Amino acid sequence: MAANRLRAVVLDLDDTLIASERARKRAYVQLGADGIDPRQATAVNARWFDRYHAGECSLDELRTGRWIELGLSPERALEVDEQYRRHHSRIRPRRDAVRTLQTLHATGLKLVLLSNAGIDYVRDRVAAASFDGLLDGIVDIAHADFKPHPDAFQAALEIAGESPQHTAMVGDNLEADIEGALSAGFARAVWLTRRKPYPDARVITLRSLAAVPSALLGW
Ligand SMILES: [Mg+2]
Repeated sequence: MAANRLRAVVLDLDDTLIASERARKRAYVQLGADGIDPRQATAVNARWFDRYHAGECSLDELRTGRWIELGLSPERALEVDEQYRRHHSRIRPRRDAVRTLQTLHATGLKLVLLSNAGIDYVRDRVAAASFDGLLDGIVDIAHADFKPHPDAFQAALEIAGESPQHTAMVGDNLEADIEGALSAGFARAVWLTRRKPYPDARVITLRSLAAVPSALLGW
């Protein structure tokens, strides 16, 4: 694809633009006083998010259910969840996130954020990381299906006002971000990972955000 045919970039948020996992792991360790094993908590939390994304529970049910499953009483679960979610304010931008967005923005590309997280969480993180003025829009996932469903990507394309043939996706999750974007017809996808490159000519596999602009603009 010639560089001038790329007109929009859709970006994931957690562990793409912000270092969520690092803060989450620290939060689990701090919950050790409640006898919560970080590894078990990680697995249980992931399972509850799968249920939530499948429409099997509400966000409120997830927030208490994950701690009750780990052995806490319903009352204690509420307290622990509040304590746990305080880590959100400690999530920092990933290295080079702002500079990467600035570089892409400066070339005139439309930039749209597409996260499976709730819109309040997303807006708070975007404001805290000073991404605001660099984005053309944010998908409110409550009005679309979760990634990897094509509807999620369609919602992002509508905000960008572009077709998938002129759009690239950037994300860290293979199934939700990369395979989802390809299924939605996106021309390109950048997979941020330390894993082996994805065997598809439309996908470029990178370790760092800093390499994203040259990779995308050079296509
Ligand atoms: Mg992510």
